[in-house]
Amino acid sequence: MSEWISGLMAVPGMGPGSGTTLTSPENKVLFKNVNIFDGHNNGLQTGMNVLVEHNKISQVAAEVIPANGATEIDGKGMTLMPGMIDCHTHLAISGDFANLEENFTAGDLHVNATLHARYALLDGFTSCRDVGGPTFGLKRAIDQGKIYGPRIYPAGAFISQTSGHGDFRAWNDPNPSLSGSRYPSNFMRLGIGIVADGRDAVLAATRQNLMMGASQIKIMGGGGGSSKYDPIDTTQYTLDEMKAAVEAAGDWGTYVTAHIFTDRAIKRALEAGLKCFEHGFFMSEEVIQQVAEAGAFVCPQMWGMSPELFKNPNVPKSKHDGIKAMQEQYKDFAPWLIKHKVKVGFASDLLGPSDDGMKSRRYELWWRAEAFGSNFEVLKHLTSNAGELLAMSGPRNPYPGKLGVIEEGALADILIVDGNPLEDMMVLGGKDQWFADLEPPKPIETLKVIMKDGVVYKNTL
Ligand SMILES: [Zn+2]
Repeated sequence: MSEWISGLMAVPGMGPGSGTTLTSPENKVLFKNVNIFDGHNNGLQTGMNVLVEHNKISQVAAEVIPANGATEIDGKGMTLMPGMIDCHTHLAISGDFANLEENFTAGDLHVNATLHARYALLDGFTSCRDVGGPTFGLKRAIDQGKIYGPRIYPAGAFISQTSGHGDFRAWNDPNPSLSGSRYPSNFMRLGIGIVADGRDAVLAATRQNLMMGASQIKIMGGGGGSSKYDPIDTTQYTLDEMKAAVEAAGDWGTYVTAHIFTDRAIKRALEAGLKCFEHGFFMSEEVIQQVAEAGAFVCPQMWGMSPELFKNPNVPKSKHDGIKAMQEQYKDFAPWLIKHKVKVGFASDLLGPSDDGMKSRRYELWWRAEAFGSNFEVLKHLTSNAGELLAMSGPRNPYPGKLGVIEEGALADILIVDGNPLEDMMVLGGKDQWFADLEPPKPIETLKVIMKDGVVYKNTL
């Protein structure tokens, strides 16, 4: 970790006092001589110029753009593309679960979150849709220019039934639905999750998050791998409880997403009106078709389907055979998503800010292209598809404007990359190894320029 931090500080143009404008976007920045990946098309437009004025892209042209007084950045024929979007983050959840459940204080959590946000931005992720955890203060500090980080679309505390994927109480802790004790576990005290049973409690939990500034709501719709009490095959929340969340979110113009895996749970969630599904690996082709027809999104972290998972020391050997069998059973997941034109968003699901967490996101970039058989598919997950998903927050979108595309009028979140990511995910930091990679993560050298909201955060050109 220390090498990673010192590596970052060594990047020219980084850090306070190095000339980076943190609070006010430059008036005009002209990117010259770049090849554009626009987020939509499978190819590069070569020899292009892009003008950014304040925080928006104002012109994209093959001809010379006259821009008096603009700061000029010569792209030297490199690739200019939209800033990447991670549709499934937990910036304020540490991977150190045992401590998080018992000893972590708000101070521990937010120092970690601050680092985590900084690493995300410096890996080229200019937006994170955060699907669980107390990121509201982090978001405010980033938006006010106090610290480095991506745009954050916060869900706030994930909402779980008793015994569900978000219930991290100990056996002896009081149950908020039975005892009236509102904050029985560290997870609830820190604002990571809320245990809420029944329509009234789900309404209150949803509205509590909306009050704090949630741009979307996250519920736990089924069992999981990292939780304490719920087998992965379980369905969580009744139809009426799911509908309660959808109604309260809908009254604020936004949507509900769910942690969810199985056909049974997803069918119920579709009926309730959920618009997005996290993970979702165990969908049959029939249900994938229904998801496509509903125009809903799926955000899977594909490393869950990778053989590298078995090198993760946190996955107990006793679970290996079961996971292998499931990977085999659902090996057509990605091809079916492509076949039925389901809208897919990139998901790292990383818990940070550890080296292993950083590595899992970089491994995901590479492995995902293998799983979907196409760099272009993954680049859409990272850009235009993800931008469309962020826009589903409607009036609760904290950053109105287009994200994930390079076009006139879009928000100026821009990367310049040495190399062509349509051919090689490694130029974006993609790694073909995960736990077998013993080197600590280092700044990505091929990521030459990182601009967010018209502000240059990295420039090594
Ligand atoms: Zn997650």
